[in-house]
Amino acid sequence: MDNKWESAGNQLLAEHGLHIATIRKSMSGFAPWKGNGICSPLPKTAKSFAILAHEVGHKALGHNGKGKSCVHEFEAEQFAIQQFKRFGFAMPREVKLRMNWHIAYGLAQALNRGMKDVPKELRPYKKMLRTQWSMGSLVQAKNGIETARCYNVRRYVVTAEHGTYVE
Ligand SMILES: [Zn+2]
Repeated sequence: MDNKWESAGNQLLAEHGLHIATIRKSMSGFAPWKGNGICSPLPKTAKSFAILAHEVGHKALGHNGKGKSCVHEFEAEQFAIQQFKRFGFAMPREVKLRMNWHIAYGLAQALNRGMKDVPKELRPYKKMLRTQWSMGSLVQAKNGIETARCYNVRRYVVTAEHGTYVE
């Protein structure tokens, strides 16, 4: 049976000289920095096509671990959105929410890792975050004796509606 998501997905892969190296059963993907293979579910629905297009985006945009990964996640989602437009596919609300959630998640991670300034393109997503206190601990060894010190850590979490996490 002809599936429009499959034909568009195949076209996209071919255009960028890529293939699916690992077929994911779950709704998540990954784009290794090296090689021409990506990990993605087969594009059979709007959701799985969005994941495939996102991972193709990472490769097409040359994301290789250098630069801010939260910005790369944003760019890969923009690339995926462009593919929906280009093939004339409507984007279901669920897919859009999942993309927004994914970008906000990347921003939260970056802030939790100490990023000070929110990049301009990510500023609208800051409102999807709130801060939460959690317990952290630090183990110190002195004279062969380990002591644990507990302290409160303020971290960012995403509060908005979402789907499954993708890398
Ligand atoms: Zn990604």
